[in-house]
Amino acid sequence: MTPHKIGIIGLGKIAQDQHLPVIRANSNFELLAVSSQRGIAPEDARYSFQDYRDLLGLKDVEAVAICTPPQVRHHIAREALLAGKSVLLEKPPAATLSELEDLRQLAHKVGKTLFTTWHSQYNKAVEEAKKALAGWSIKRLQVTWKEDVRHWHPGQQWIWAAGGFGVFDPGINALSIVTRIMPEPVFIKAANLEFPANRDAPIAATLQFQTGHTDGNLQAVFDWRQTGPQSWDIEVETEAGFALKLAHGGSCLEIDGRLVVKEEPAEYQGIYRRFDALLTIGRSEVDDAPFRLVADAFMVGKRVQVEAFEE
Ligand code: NAP
Repeated sequence: MTPHKIGIIGLGKIAQDQHLPVIRANSNFELLAVSSQRGIAPEDARYSFQDYRDLLGLKDVEAVAICTPPQVRHHIAREALLAGKSVLLEKPPAATLSELEDLRQLAHKVGKTLFTTWHSQYNKAVEEAKKALAGWSIKRLQVTWKEDVRHWHPGQQWIWAAGGFGVFDPGINALSIVTRIMPEPVFIKAANLEFPANRDAPIAATLQFQTGHTDGNLQAVFDWRQTGPQSWDIEVETEAGFALKLAHGGSCLEIDGRLVVKEEPAEYQGIYRRFDALLTIGRSEVDDAPFRLVADAFMVGKRVQVEAFEE
């Protein structure tokens, strides 16, 4: 099979940590080109540009991975689709739901693949949790996503700007697991959003969920002020009496205290296997469920001003 010739737009942290090495290791892809505003030019990319529009002008590029901050993703993705390229969107897939809907419709119109990636879903433990919960009513859901923003997002000013998602940038990963494993859809019933006095995006949030038939005890706590041990855990208790815990961002599953899955994360390998399959059959995969929960939290959330945040 001829490999898919791919370009990467935006060579920041995630592009360098995951997209570049995973593409290099997958023989179904060939890294043809990159675009980097700062002029980063990996040796093995045949073409390197500073302006992504030059990359989109290359006839041989079949697909692009857009690894920029979310605020500019819609504009770039739109141009890519109009240039005849298939598109992989890093998470969050756009800045707003209507931007994503626009991309979905445009991809359909031009007959190209559009793929929303939710990397946390590509864990065996998440799939096993989904299977274990299928068909059961949920009594309790506790999501605890607490990390130190100074450690994980140093210097990322876009994340604090309007449309940068703040603590929902990691929090949406938890929500992408919740939407994947819950046996029925969950909705945001109430939210509390804490905005630092000097920032346009929240540093912490608590969310209360409900499902169609239960109010249960379903909640999430996201906090970026965590120093010491970091937590990326999801605990679920069913009416049937068994309980499970997904720990370490979805890579480890315990059921009733018994370890069921513990694996080194290989999330981006899974993402590129899926992208290969979608490109090969010419289909799109657009999952907006985690994104809708974030939008709903901003819509119904109560806003509280907290202490200014300085890096
Ligand atoms: P980052 O390190 O700040 O990288 C983003 C890069 O995008 C910048 O370095 C810049 O690269 C490019 N860029 C910035 N502004 C741009 C603009 N206006 N137009 C075009 N390109 C622009 O951020 P990141 O951590 O890689 O995150 C990028 C996306 O990936 C976010 O949506 C984030 O949620 C997602 N993500 C991040 C992680 C993580 O662990 N960091 C994990 C999963 C997903 P150039 O100078 O090279 O163009």
